[in-house]
Amino acid sequence: MLVGRLAPTPSGLLHLGNVCAFAGAWLSARAADGRLLLRIEDVDRERARPDVEQALRDDLAWLGLTWDVETPRQSARDYAPALARLAPRLYRCQCTRAMRAAPLPDGAGCQGRCDGKGYATGAVRFRLEAGSLSFIDCRWGPQHADPRRFGDPILVRRDGLVSYNLAVVADDIDDGVNDVVRGSDLLEYTAVQMQLWSALDAAAPRWLHTPLVLGADGRKLSKSHGSAHVGAMRDAGATPADVWRLVLPWLGIAGATSLAEAVPRWEPSGGPLGPITVSASGADL
Ligand code: GLU
Repeated sequence: MLVGRLAPTPSGLLHLGNVCAFAGAWLSARAADGRLLLRIEDVDRERARPDVEQALRDDLAWLGLTWDVETPRQSARDYAPALARLAPRLYRCQCTRAMRAAPLPDGAGCQGRCDGKGYATGAVRFRLEAGSLSFIDCRWGPQHADPRRFGDPILVRRDGLVSYNLAVVADDIDDGVNDVVRGSDLLEYTAVQMQLWSALDAAAPRWLHTPLVLGADGRKLSKSHGSAHVGAMRDAGATPADVWRLVLPWLGIAGATSLAEAVPRWEPSGGPLGPITVSASGADL
């Protein structure tokens, strides 16, 4: 059975880029008669905010982005078992900020030059295997990337906080997720995460990266693009149908005004690759 998930990070309000990715995850699960999970990705406790989480839940409900079951939030999970399994490929890194800013040394594991010195403290990095890695994205087709161009990912920060990289992969494995739909900003980084899936002896999921949505200034949507947020649109008088009329064509479904109407027309590879640009004034509606 297909198992997908909505995995919001409660540090920023729901914007049109999130809506596009979540609609993709929702349609993918519903069209396959699968299961859709909700997981609050609050592993970065310093940035997670309860009021933002509540607003996200309100926005999801308003749009009809429902889920079947909520799995434990990241801050309630124990990542020690995953770290124990990955132990042979972990090392402590003590790169300074200046070392990290220097160009990645050819073939070096971490982004500085402290790799392999056997430190007892410092950030915990995962040693990537060299060589290119291929995977197929349902929208973008075959992808080839050398994971090492990103440097070995940090799995536990110097201050002891587990990172997004470890949490998202360990959780998807624990939750039985086999269909990952998310924004294209993570497309290239998928190669890195594939190595974590494989080191944890799990079969990688099906990947689908939805179009990136940019503000009129050409930048990824963020807090500064207030009017491209669902709450702001609602306050300005938009209805869910208005939002779907705008967003669903980015997934290849033009003219639909609800998710239910879009289900029979869902095709994972449909729609533009992106990026999509929305005006900062909400004039797209
Ligand atoms: N919480 C992540 C986000 O908000 C989920 C994306 C993922 O890695 O699948 O982008």
